This record gives sequence, structure tokens and C-alpha cells, in this order.
Amino acid sequence: MNKVIIAIDGQASTGKSTQAKKIADNLSINYRDSGAYYRAITLYLLNTNINYDFKISQEILDQISISQEYKKGNFRIFLNDDDVTNKVRGHMVSLSVSNYAKKPEIRKFVFDQLRKSAESKSLVVDGRDIGTVVFPEANFKFFLTGKPRIRAERRHKQIDDDSVKVDIIEQEINIRDKTDSTREIAPLRKADDAFKIDVSDLTIDEVFNKILQKIKSD
Ligand code: C5P
Repeated sequence: MNKVIIAIDGQASTGKSTQAKKIADNLSINYRDSGAYYRAITLYLLNTNINYDFKISQEILDQISISQEYKKGNFRIFLNDDDVTNKVRGHMVSLSVSNYAKKPEIRKFVFDQLRKSAESKSLVVDGRDIGTVVFPEANFKFFLTGKPRIRAERRHKQIDDDSVKVDIIEQEINIRDKTDSTREIAPLRKADDAFKIDVSDLTIDEVFNKILQKIKSD
């Protein structure tokens, strides 16, 4: 197979990473979770008390080293050699990440990492600006959307913690989508040539079949 780049963008909690991993498995290609880069940087900056109101200097960014691994359903992310796969999903990181992700110096950091990952290999990447900014030349672009309530209910089931209310998750999802789609740099939006899928009434397998059909038919 020739080198192929597949972009899976969309709103929060639409199952982008689930779909991207299934594609990686099916086509035996590499996977990168762009949101996890933003989450790991956010974790580092929260831990070092660096607020998003300030410019993040190159000196600080040079202290951050992030790597990702994906093998057969198992995704791991390392921040300065620590496995932070679970920590990057924490509540504080989820609440703050969109504010850090607005910053041009942080976006450049992630952009460079992703472009480097794709230098010689096929890649499927999920995120918000993959088909519009990071890989505008991607061979296939998908854009996932869904009703906020349904996305919140699905996320609630995943979290499996009754102390976290669906209403709160729905609020967080709405705030994150708003921050992501109204920011000045690389806002969340569908690329003109992306294939849009509303996942509200579809199962994971139904979404995957649509994606695969599109890839195989072109
Ligand atoms: O995909 P995930 O929900 O883990 O992403 C976390 C956050 O990282 C998003 O809400 C968004 O603020 C930011 N992000 C981004 N651009 C991407 C991927 C994620 O701004 N390509």
C-alpha cells in the first residue's frame, strides 16, 4: 500500500479515537491521538503551575517530551518517560485543555510532532484540525458530529462513575465544542472535502462500516 494519511476530526466525544484505532488495526497502519498531545502538555503545565494566560516560552516547551505508542487496541502516552495514559483523562485536564490548546506556541508543538510522525509512514490521526490544518493533503478526511445529550450519555457509560452526572458531562462537552470552534487559530470545523457522519443514531460498528466503505471505494 502507498503511504496514506487519514484524518478523523469532529466534536468532543463522538468516538473519533475509537474509530481511528479500528482503522489503524484494519489497515495495519500507525495511529496518533492529537488530543492526547494537548492533554499531556496541559497536564505538564498544570503540574508546574503555568497558567494559560501567559505565553509559554520555548525554554518551557523544551522541557516537554511526549511519545505515543499504539499496538492492537492498546494506546499509551508518555510525558517525559512517565506513562500518563490515565492521568491525561483526568477531570482537571479535561476542563483546562481547550484553553491551553488555543495557544499558538502549543499548537505549533503538536503540529511538528504530528508532521514528524507521518514523515515516512502511513498514519491515521484524530483531532479537531487534522484535515484542515495539520494534514490538508490527507487522502481521506472524516468529520464526526452528534447530538450533545447522546454524546454525554455515551461518555457517562464509559466513565462508569455515578457521582458524575450526565448533565455536567453534557455541559463540559458543549463548552469544549464552543471553545474549540470559536478560537482564532485552527478552529474546529469540517474541511470542505471531509465526509461528514452524524453518529447520534449509529453504533460504533455502523460508523466504522461507513468509514471503511468510503476508504475502500475511492
Ligand atoms: O480529542 P480530545 O477530546 O482528547 O481533545 C482534547 C482537547 O484538545 C480538545 O477539546 C481541543 O481543545 C484540543 N484539540 C485541539 N486540536 C486537536 C485535537 C485536540 O485543539 N487536533
